[in-house]
Amino acid sequence: MEIIQRLVSADKYGIKCPYSMTPKGICVHNTANDASAENEIAYMTGNNDYTSYHYAIDDRQIIQAIPENRNGFHAGDGATGEGNRNYIGIEICYSKSGGERFIQAEKNTAVFIASKLKEYGWDISKVKKHQDFSGKYCPHRTLDMGWQRFLDMIRAELSKEDDELTREEVQAMIDASKERVYHYWDELPDWAQAPIKALYGKGYFYGAAPDDLDLSYGTMRTLVVLARALKAEGKIEY
Ligand SMILES: [Zn+2]
Repeated sequence: MEIIQRLVSADKYGIKCPYSMTPKGICVHNTANDASAENEIAYMTGNNDYTSYHYAIDDRQIIQAIPENRNGFHAGDGATGEGNRNYIGIEICYSKSGGERFIQAEKNTAVFIASKLKEYGWDISKVKKHQDFSGKYCPHRTLDMGWQRFLDMIRAELSKEDDELTREEVQAMIDASKERVYHYWDELPDWAQAPIKALYGKGYFYGAAPDDLDLSYGTMRTLVVLARALKAEGKIEY
């Protein structure tokens, strides 16, 4: 899903995100209202309260308000708090009434968080809830429905990506095992032509047939090293 940026204006950095930040993880929230992500972000970036967060996600959109390299005030643990100073705050929308819009917003959030874990090289332990930092019962509906269930949704997304990676890796292994074999003189790379011709001419090796060298890349390289050694000893010329 595309990430839409509606970044807070720089003149509000002093209120909304005064500190630079190297994120340590994700802090998950529920908005506890029924506003869309767009309205939620417009409200947050438009007012002068210090309360802030990085993303709002609903059933249709992911909207970013604060760059990930600046802090937000969402975790309820104060100006120097672990959550407020180190965690990317994500609000899941439509949590007041729940229903299909919320279910989809949670799904979108799980996919987004999985992509962030991958991007930062984090494991699932980096996904925290607001409650972990201040004790507030947030993300309330996600907690009602089951925090472990939500983590499992993220895990499912991670393993989906892992499966794709594994298929790619398997294909890469197959490709790597198909070592190129050179059959004809004009197939040989320039750096191998003269030394291998010299070896062949002196009868150091024969191909599979008079017109088929049948040399793997590895063997070709070994023969070139051999040719150089023989040339240094004056046993062949090229
Ligand atoms: Zn919260």
